[in-house]
Amino acid sequence: AKNDAANQIVVIGLGRFGSSLAGELVRRGSEVLAIDSRPNVVQRHADEITHTAVADTTDRESLKQLGVHQFHRAVVAIGTDLEASILTTSLLADFEIGNIWAKATSRQHGRILQRVGAHHVVLPEHEMGERVAHLVFGRMLDYIELAEHYALIKTHAPAEAHGRTLGDLKLRSKYGVTVVGIKRPDSDFTYATADTEIGEGDILVVAGTTTQVERFAERV
Ligand code: ADP
Repeated sequence: AKNDAANQIVVIGLGRFGSSLAGELVRRGSEVLAIDSRPNVVQRHADEITHTAVADTTDRESLKQLGVHQFHRAVVAIGTDLEASILTTSLLADFEIGNIWAKATSRQHGRILQRVGAHHVVLPEHEMGERVAHLVFGRMLDYIELAEHYALIKTHAPAEAHGRTLGDLKLRSKYGVTVVGIKRPDSDFTYATADTEIGEGDILVVAGTTTQVERFAERV
């Protein structure tokens, strides 16, 4: 089912964010219609994106001519031009597109986008800034906040754990965390069980509350 509506998406704005998003969607097998008002920008990405068009997306008729109103999924990746971002998002909402994602450059901008009909708002700079704050001291190799106080992290296995099994280490009662996956040097990530023995150089994927995973990572 590669070409059904479930796999089609409109991406509006081919700046750094929009073009990276559109390119990754195509590589993941989606059928992408990408629109930008700048012809040279559209031309630059025409080869890697399924369908591209030059249009001002604040114009309702242009959107209709491109069939945008028939899509079920769209991303508004216009950032700096606040007016264009808001107008475009509200037009997509008027078309009753069921799944509208929009990029905001500030929290206020995000609130407006939600008001005019965006279902999901992303703040790439803010979100990345917060994520990097958890990584700069090097205790965690990766950090993903899944909900407001719950996170999944990637971290080195603590030295005290080497040669012992997860069952034996009792990390859940000691730290409140759950080891979800493990990666040995030279092999892929795999699931972790009570019998999994930790070795030197192992990398763990650990889930828990933000405080718990941080406390665990700091012991490393
Ligand atoms: P980024 O920070 O990700 O590079 P920008 O805000 O700089 O994002 O880029 C957004 C893109 O949206 C630009 O390529 C710009 O040409 C495009 N864009 C801005 N206004 C409109 C509009 N009214 N219609 C279509 N595309 C637009």
